[in-house]
Amino acid sequence: MKIWLLVLLKLAGVLALGLVFGLITGRIALCLLIALLAYTVHRIWKLHRLVHWLRQRNYSNPPSLGGMWDEIVTEVLRLNRRKRYHKQRLVTMLHELRDSTAALPDGVVLLNARGEIVRFNRMAAEMLDLHGRKDIGIRIDNLLRQPEFLKYLAGSDFSSPKVLQTSTAPESWLSLHVLPYGEGQRILLIRNVTRHVRLEAMRKDFVANASHELRSPLTVITGYLETLAGDETVNEQFGAPIAEMRRQADRMAGIIGDLLVLSRLEAKEGEVEGEAVDVAAMLALLRKEALARPRRPASVTLTIDSQHRLLGDDIELHSAFANLLDNAVKYTPAEGNVAMRWWTDEAGAHFSVTDTGPGIPAESIPRLTERFYRVDTGRSRASGGSGLGLAIVKHVLQRHGGQLDIASVEGRGSTFTCHFPRRRIAPPVAGSNTGR
Ligand code: ADP
Repeated sequence: MKIWLLVLLKLAGVLALGLVFGLITGRIALCLLIALLAYTVHRIWKLHRLVHWLRQRNYSNPPSLGGMWDEIVTEVLRLNRRKRYHKQRLVTMLHELRDSTAALPDGVVLLNARGEIVRFNRMAAEMLDLHGRKDIGIRIDNLLRQPEFLKYLAGSDFSSPKVLQTSTAPESWLSLHVLPYGEGQRILLIRNVTRHVRLEAMRKDFVANASHELRSPLTVITGYLETLAGDETVNEQFGAPIAEMRRQADRMAGIIGDLLVLSRLEAKEGEVEGEAVDVAAMLALLRKEALARPRRPASVTLTIDSQHRLLGDDIELHSAFANLLDNAVKYTPAEGNVAMRWWTDEAGAHFSVTDTGPGIPAESIPRLTERFYRVDTGRSRASGGSGLGLAIVKHVLQRHGGQLDIASVEGRGSTFTCHFPRRRIAPPVAGSNTGR
């Protein structure tokens, strides 16, 4: 039967009893009132017991109140069972999560929107010297005070980690990667990259030293070959081999030279500040040199759409632009064209070299700036390429906050564009009239 019907029936029963007594005693109103009062007091008593039981939270010993009250008690018990079940599940999940992050070989620190530490795992405690509850609630920038890290944390570019030595582990190199999530919260992922950094330093040293050591013997060989080439007493049959040896020695010198340039670029940390470089004048000179080559495309043009200068390192920029022009001239046939352009706009400053050469297959484009990567090994070797030119260009652009964009259609030609940020644009040379 429905609860409300039962309650109504009970009330009707009490009132009927009151009425009967009223008819017997002749005081109907009084008897009805007493019956209602008794009914209400009984209800209040049961309500009181229910509230008392609920407050005590003694769910294992529910009161027996009868009727509608038992239904409420049963419902409360059911809700409580469900709550306990969900709570248990959450606790189990939380423990599993905590145990799994504790087992991670990397440090994990959870930060709230104010940058305060909310939680951290065992590895993070070890690497950052964090202590139990003492460091919970402490701002991470109070613990890690390295200026580079503070700048990284305050910025918005978290695409790559920051690698640095912290005061908490001065012997180690830590990679600190901020991963934003939720509403302003962040995960700080810490990895010990000491081995990697040391290996990288060893590799750089090795390449720089090996290149340096190879230079002197090669200079001797080149010198003797030059003498032999000019010596008329040397048998004629050695003419061709000596010429080939000179060509190969020159190639080797080119590779060693480029390796040394790359090593020097790698050794320099951060972006260059540099001075205002007159790109227009530099490009005009590069064009002149290209036109003076014995093997070159039919036309090498230069469009200067801005007289603005570029803040940077003169030698490095020259090396990057010369490499791009050199490739275009090298890989474009005699009847082809090479066009250079320098311009500035809202986005920044740009330099492009377009050629009508063989183009580059789409799958090779992402790999072009890798060291020694060549699309067509035969063609590149024949043209005397070291395979390091574009790696140098990429490094130079990185040091100037810029990036290289490569667009190419196989069989039709390629366009290599260097993009520099606005902050690198410097005013034109005083007195120049075509500046924008
Ligand atoms: P390389 O000294 O061999 O030219 P780079 O690093 O300058 O080395 O270039 C890498 C490779 O990219 C080259 O070997 C060549 O296959 C390809 N490449 C570079 N520039 C061009 C271009 N303008 N047209 C076609 N292929 C190019």
